[in-house]
Amino acid sequence: MDLVVWIDLILFLLLFALFIYVFASVTITNLHKVYLVFHFSMMLWPFCQFALKTTENPMFQLFYVKLAFIDSSMLATGWLLFTIFLTGRSKFLRIKSSLLLFIPSVVLSLGVITNPHDWFVLPVDGGYIQRTYGPIFWCIVIVMIIYIVISFYIIYLTLVSGSSQRIKKQVQQVFKGILVMTTFVIMDIFLNVILDSYLPVIPGLTSLGILLSAVFFVISIHRDKVLDIVTIAHQDIIDTIALGILVLDEGETVVEINQSLSPYLNLRIGDAFDMSVIFTKEHSDNRTDNFLETYKNSPLENIEIEWLQTNIQRYIKVDAAPIMVRGVMVGRIITFQDMTELRSLFDETTLQNDILQERNQMLIGIQNELFQTNRKLKQMAITDSLTGCYNRHYLTQQLEHEVMKNRKSQTPFAIFLLDIDFFKLVNDNYGHLAGDEVICSTVETIKQTLREDDILARYGGEEFIVYLPNTTSSEALPLAERIKARVEVNKVIVENADHPVSVTVSMGLLSINKDFRTEHTDSPKTYLNDLFESVDKALYQAKKEGRNQIVSILR
Ligand code: GH3
Ligand code: MG
Ligand code: MG
Repeated sequence: MDLVVWIDLILFLLLFALFIYVFASVTITNLHKVYLVFHFSMMLWPFCQFALKTTENPMFQLFYVKLAFIDSSMLATGWLLFTIFLTGRSKFLRIKSSLLLFIPSVVLSLGVITNPHDWFVLPVDGGYIQRTYGPIFWCIVIVMIIYIVISFYIIYLTLVSGSSQRIKKQVQQVFKGILVMTTFVIMDIFLNVILDSYLPVIPGLTSLGILLSAVFFVISIHRDKVLDIVTIAHQDIIDTIALGILVLDEGETVVEINQSLSPYLNLRIGDAFDMSVIFTKEHSDNRTDNFLETYKNSPLENIEIEWLQTNIQRYIKVDAAPIMVRGVMVGRIITFQDMTELRSLFDETTLQNDILQERNQMLIGIQNELFQTNRKLKQMAITDSLTGCYNRHYLTQQLEHEVMKNRKSQTPFAIFLLDIDFFKLVNDNYGHLAGDEVICSTVETIKQTLREDDILARYGGEEFIVYLPNTTSSEALPLAERIKARVEVNKVIVENADHPVSVTVSMGLLSINKDFRTEHTDSPKTYLNDLFESVDKALYQAKKEGRNQIVSILR
């Protein structure tokens, strides 16, 4: 067999190797699968060229020729679809219309299969290694050229439009692939078909074109991440995110507008964007003017504004930020966010917060009141309401504790028991209220005479008890004398009397200096009762001995 036969086989094998390489080296997405089918059909051409020359049988030869041309007509459609997809125009093309693109290829393929009246191909010397092509072949060539021209046109549109750099890069790569393939195919047709009779057949031209374009494609897959799942995912995210995203180039031309935003802004890629039109007229105020001015004059600043878009009754927040590449501004990204829900949530939360704070304040008020009431109740429980001094209950409680402590530490102390003399007469002469006034005034006099640590309590009626801690008899007696003397000179002005009233007091004084008798160690109550009894006796004696005097007992 001729050596040139093997050229197609080698090209086929290289294509096959690329096929395996793509298959093995990238994570296969659905898009990669589509590409692999496409790549497979590219492999078919050199395979058929090779297989054609390996058989003497004209039937087989015809089969391989037909297969190669059906494949190539499909390939042209495939390229066109790829171009449409890669340039991001696929959303304008429905599945049905993309199938329509295959109609010419399918019709021509039927022509190739049936080869009516040898309109597709004519054998030369009884075989198809040398062959002459008929009108169907030329139709295939024309359709291929038309499709390739359309592809070029789409590529041209994409390159001049404001598409993203990513898409432009991909498209350039595809452009190179198609250009290389087209060049080789045209060379093949020109040299091997048109100038067939003047030149020897140059083998493998179309196959080489196919191989080179496949190489371009594989480079794109690897270097530019065409069909890459992450890049596609980024696009998906941008398109599905609720945030409206608008990307502008440095000349304020729309480069990208995502799907969330397109219903609100009547803009397409390539349109000029004017920031001022986003504000409805009734909302151009100082704030929007400032925003627009900063937007226009300080493009490097990140700016934002939120306003109520009255025609849709929603709060919209717009953020504008420059896109910087190596310190140079290449465009802007503008995001639109619907703040209505967030705002009402915020308002609701603030309202709830205010209510809670109010309630809290109320609770604090109630708590304070309770605290005061409690304090008053406590005070009331231990004080006498008429005189304001301690009551008997409190004093007893305190003393039970105090006397035991004193006994332990052998600390001297004293107790006075006082009773106003002839008090009944005061009541009888001037009335009960006057009596009350006299009691209060006497208590006041006693209080003023006492020291800070002494405890004065109402023992009952007009009888009072004083506990003097840490006091010896020699200290207690002068104090008692002073009380007695001061009460005596104290004049109380009462309502029903035409002259001030004065009273005297009788006192029993008990001083405990060293009387810490052991028989009382068990019960403080008994000890205390014993002390009270003693002091009571002393008072009784003072009364008996003529009143207005002190009887002192020392233990
Ligand atoms: P004595 O010198 O023996 O103590 O004579 P007295 O009249 O003071 O007799 P006693 O101490 O037994 O009488 C106390 C009187 O004080 C009886 C009661 O009516 C009166 N009294 C008791 N508590 C009060 C009070 O809170 N207010 C008034 N106005 N009088 C009271
Ligand atoms: Mg009395
Ligand atoms: Mg009395």
